Amino acid sequence: MTRHIIVTGASRGIGAAVARHFLSLGDTVVALSRSGDAPEGCAGSFAVDVASSQAVNEAVKAAIAEHGPVDVLVANAGITRDGLAMRMSDEQWRDVLGTNLDGAFYCARAVLSSMIRARSGRVIFMGSVSPFYGVPGQANYAAAKAGLVGLARSLAREVASRSITVNVVAPGFIETEMTSELGATSEEMTALIPMGHMGGVDDIAGVVGFLASNSAAYLTGQVIAVDGGLAMGL
Ligand code: NDP
Repeated sequence: MTRHIIVTGASRGIGAAVARHFLSLGDTVVALSRSGDAPEGCAGSFAVDVASSQAVNEAVKAAIAEHGPVDVLVANAGITRDGLAMRMSDEQWRDVLGTNLDGAFYCARAVLSSMIRARSGRVIFMGSVSPFYGVPGQANYAAAKAGLVGLARSLAREVASRSITVNVVAPGFIETEMTSELGATSEEMTALIPMGHMGGVDDIAGVVGFLASNSAAYLTGQVIAVDGGLAMGL
């Protein structure tokens, strides 16, 4: 059966790979991003800043009106604005919290009533190993991604009786535009990965696909690190 799947941050990187994964299964995929770009084959795309609750509500409402209840939300949109905490501006802090944490909450809130009515659904947040590992310069990002864990676990308990699962995928070091600017830091980070290399976007898309599948129906409130062993045990 074709599922209605909303993927945020689907214009490139991990989100685009997630969207392509579901498209390959024949699902109806609606993409959200600031640019509105989306992989070929998406049923819809919206140019939306996820940090705006009004914009998110309007886009999700339009998607539901056209494609029916949302079966799966992948709240993946994210940014970094790195800097040492003592020099971090209010704007750097707020931008990162706004997109990574507020945005994920707004998207989840917008889809939940349709999932509750349908008595099924999957909410998947794109976290990070950053809060477990501790990365200097990422106080804003780590706080936002740690916040997703609390958000996911509270939501998971709120909606579990309706057969809705809520989980966090926590990527390690994945080759995308986000990590392309790291230069020497990238080599230092790679040296810490037990598997010895960065992950690819499809490594994440496969795990998201599993969480959205029937095989993961009894899996909720969990954080799944996909990191080549980088943060194991943390
Ligand atoms: P990219 O920078 O390649 O892509 C980010 C995506 O998010 C783009 O589609 C971008 O589209 C969208 N986006 C950013 N801000 C907003 C916004 N305010 N509203 C709507 N869409 C937005 O990043 P990645 O693919 O690498 O990262 C995807 C997710 O995975 C993020 O949440 C990131 O934190 C997480 N992650 C990534 C890791 C990595 O190593 N790459 C490691 C751990 C976590 P547009 O610019 O058009 O808005």
